[in-house]
Amino acid sequence: AMTASLAACSSEGSGGATSGSDDKQTEAGSGKIGVAMPTKDLQRWNQDGENMKKQLEDAGYEVDLQFASNDPATQVSQIENMISGGCDLLVIASIDGESLGTPLATAEEQDIPVISYDRLIMNTTAVKYYATFDNYLVGQKQGEYLVDALDLENQAGPFNIEIFTGDPGDNNVNFFFGGAMDVLQPYIDEGKLVVQSGQTTKEQCATADWSTEKAQSRMDAILSSNYADKQLDAVLCSNDSTALGVENSLEANYTGEWPIITGQDCDKPNVKNIVAGKQAMSVFKDTRLLAEQTVKMVDAIMSGEEAEVNDTESYDNGTGVIPTYLCEPTVVTKDNYQEMLIDSGYYTEEDVQ
Ligand code: BGC
Repeated sequence: AMTASLAACSSEGSGGATSGSDDKQTEAGSGKIGVAMPTKDLQRWNQDGENMKKQLEDAGYEVDLQFASNDPATQVSQIENMISGGCDLLVIASIDGESLGTPLATAEEQDIPVISYDRLIMNTTAVKYYATFDNYLVGQKQGEYLVDALDLENQAGPFNIEIFTGDPGDNNVNFFFGGAMDVLQPYIDEGKLVVQSGQTTKEQCATADWSTEKAQSRMDAILSSNYADKQLDAVLCSNDSTALGVENSLEANYTGEWPIITGQDCDKPNVKNIVAGKQAMSVFKDTRLLAEQTVKMVDAIMSGEEAEVNDTESYDNGTGVIPTYLCEPTVVTKDNYQEMLIDSGYYTEEDVQ
C-alpha cells in the first residue's frame, strides 16, 4: 500500500494552475524548491532530505537540498543562498526555531512561501504551513508505554525512572516532553514513580543538540550519584539518539536489571537494540509519509491553492496558529518491528541485524 500511495503521489496530476500573484508566477510541477535540513549526523534527516528531493524531482521541481551540521548560522546562510539562488518556495527543518527571523523576513519580502518541516519555526509570519508528525502524541505514547510496561495501574511500586528529552531550541521538545509528562506526572506525584536524580524539569532533562554523547555523560553522572545500590526501572527518552547515549552508559556502568527505555525514530542502531532487548520501544515516524504530505503542500501552494491540513489549533508559532498537517506516529517494539519496518520496505532485514 505504501509503494502504491507513493507512486500515486509522484504521478499525481499537477493541475498546472498558475498563481494569481503579480510579482511571482508559480506553477505546480515547475520551479525551484529549497530544502533545508538540520544535519547529516542523524539518520532520519538524511532520509527526510533524500525522500523530499526524490519526490519533488519526480513531481517536476528542481531541488536545492542542504544540510547544516546542526549549526544555526550555517542554516541561516544556506537559506540566504536559496533565496538569492531563485528558490520559489522553502521547506525548512530548523535547528533552532528562533534563529531564522532575518532570512525569513527576506523570503517574505520576496513572496517566497515557507513550509515548516517537522519542527515549527517560531516568531515569523513567513511560515505558511507546518507539516509534521503529531508530536504531542509521540510523547504521550512513550509515557503510556511505560505506564503499561510497569503496570502502574496495578503495581504499588515505587519504580525508579529518569527522564531525557532533546534540544531546548527545538519546539518539538515542548510537545514530546509535555505529552510524556502529562501521562507520567500523576504517578510521580502519587509516589509510584520516583526520579532519584530529582531532575524533572524540561531544562534539567534537556539534551543539547539531541547529542548521544551528551545524553551518555548525563546518564553516567546520574548513575554514579544515584544508582550504585539501586535498581533503575525505566528511562523516558524522547528520541533514539538520546536513548542510545543512555544505553551506552548503562552498558558501561550499570549491573542491575535492565530498565525499560523508550525512543523515537527507529534509527537503525536502536532497532538493533530493540531486537537485542536493550530498548523496549521506539516511536516510528515514516519519513516517506511526511515527505509525501509535504510535496502535496508544495504542489498546492505553487498552484495558488490552499493546502490540505488537519490541525488548525495546536501549533502557534508566536504570530498565530500555523495551519498544520499532522502525520500519525506508531509504536514499534520487538513484536511488530518486522511488520512495521521490514515488511513495509522501510528497512531490509540486514539493516537492523
Ligand atoms: C524530531 C525527531 C528527532 C529529533 C532529533 C526532532 O525535532 O522530530 O524525530 O529525533 O528532532 O533530530
